[in-house]
Parts: sequence; C-alpha cells; structure tokens
Amino acid sequence: MSGKSKDIAIVLTKAILDHRIMPGAKLGERELSEIFNVSRIVIRQALVRLLEEGVVTIERNRGAFVIKPSLQDAQDVYDAASILEQGAIAQLSHRLSSSARASLRQHLEQQRQALRDRNNAVSDILGQQFHMLLVKLSQNRVIIDIYEQLSRKILLIRALYRAEFDYEHLLEDHERLVDLIEQRKFKQTQDLLHDHNRIVSNSYVLDEREQPARSLAEALAPYLADQHQKDAKVAWMADHKESRSSRAVPSKSGSTTSTTQGRGS
Ligand SMILES: [Zn+2]
Repeated sequence: MSGKSKDIAIVLTKAILDHRIMPGAKLGERELSEIFNVSRIVIRQALVRLLEEGVVTIERNRGAFVIKPSLQDAQDVYDAASILEQGAIAQLSHRLSSSARASLRQHLEQQRQALRDRNNAVSDILGQQFHMLLVKLSQNRVIIDIYEQLSRKILLIRALYRAEFDYEHLLEDHERLVDLIEQRKFKQTQDLLHDHNRIVSNSYVLDEREQPARSLAEALAPYLADQHQKDAKVAWMADHKESRSSRAVPSKSGSTTSTTQGRGS
C-alpha cells in the first residue's frame, strides 16, 4: 500500500468522523481520483483500507459506501461490548490487585474533573477509556483484542450519530461500579454494567433527517487545502534540491528522491 493511499484513507476517515461525508454516502472511485489527483488504483487501495477498518462497505458493481449502522446495529455492538465487559468482571475475583484498584480510583477522579469543567468531549473519551480499563483488568489478551475492535466500531457510531448523555448519571454509575468491585460484589457489578450500557446505547438519536447535499469535492475541500499546502512545500523542497544537486530521481511511488539526501535506505 502506497503512502498516498494511506494519506487519502486518513483524510476520508476525518471527513466521515467530522460529519462532512454522511453515513451511507457513496465514495465514487473516479470522483475521488479526480479530487485527489491520483490513479483509481490508489483510491481503490485507500477504500480497501477503510473497508478493513469497518468504515465503508464495498458492494459488488456498485462501489464503496460509508457505513450506515442502524439503531439495531448500534445496539448489537453495545450488547457485544457489554457481554465482554461482564465476562472480564467475572474473571476479576482472583486477579484484582491493589494497583488496579488505585488506577480505577484515579481514573474516576479524572472523569470527575472533566465533569466539573463541563467538558463533554473529554467526558466522552474518558467514559470510554474507563470501560476499556475494566476489560483490561481481566488481563485476558483475547478478550482485550476483541474489545478493542468493538471500541473502534463504537467510536464510529459515536461520530456518526448524535447522543444525549447524562454525564453526571453515567459517572455516578462508574463510581458505583468501582465501589462494587472493591467490595468484590462481582455479580452486582455485572448487573449494573448491563443496565448502564443499555442506558448508553439507548441515548443515541439516530438522526435520519435529510442532510444538505454536498459533493465529495465540497466535503473534502478543507482537508485538501492542508494537503495542497504540504504538497506545495514538498514540491518546492524537491525543486530547491534539484537546483543545487545533479538530478532528482522520481521514486516508484511518485515522490521525488534527491541525490543530495546523502542517506541510503
Ligand atoms: Zn460508562
């Protein structure tokens, strides 16, 4: 995979998470190759990358589309994550160290501070981290790996859809969860986790309102401005080197490697 296709995948992901390219939008290969001024092969590589990350689906003869999880899809992802969290708690009974308990308490304090600061964006991130921390307590690598995959999907769901969380209530639940863990009441911890995760997944507002029609070129314009500045700088540096040295040799990926670099790779 070329560096170019990776960069394009990153720009597309940003635009999707920033809500500039909407769920369900078509990502046309030809249109994108014109926008990014690269071959369709490079675009295809970028789209395959997004497919692997679960950001797009590719439909035979129709092309690539931004995923559009339904309310049920979101619910399923949360249910699966919740089952793993509860399973991790079930494994805690013989694995709960005092340092693990301390890290939970410390994390709660960070969450409390974010709430005091009324910083919902940080509350959001810390809230998710807290759940990851619970799963990591299990020290089960397989559970942790699967949970990380689900976390990426949750991240996407959170970016794609609006949620109205009561952060105060969620944090009170987190505090109660840690209390229960410290009291080694693992069954009650699992029950509370189940209810807590249900509240979270039910907080989504799956907004089906029509979005203003925006072409891919318009949606991507802000990111391309940055990219063009970078490209211009790279081109200027390459020209500059060329004028000082013998010749610049185009590399396979299309970027320019100058002989003045003086370093082998
Ligand atoms: Zn939570």
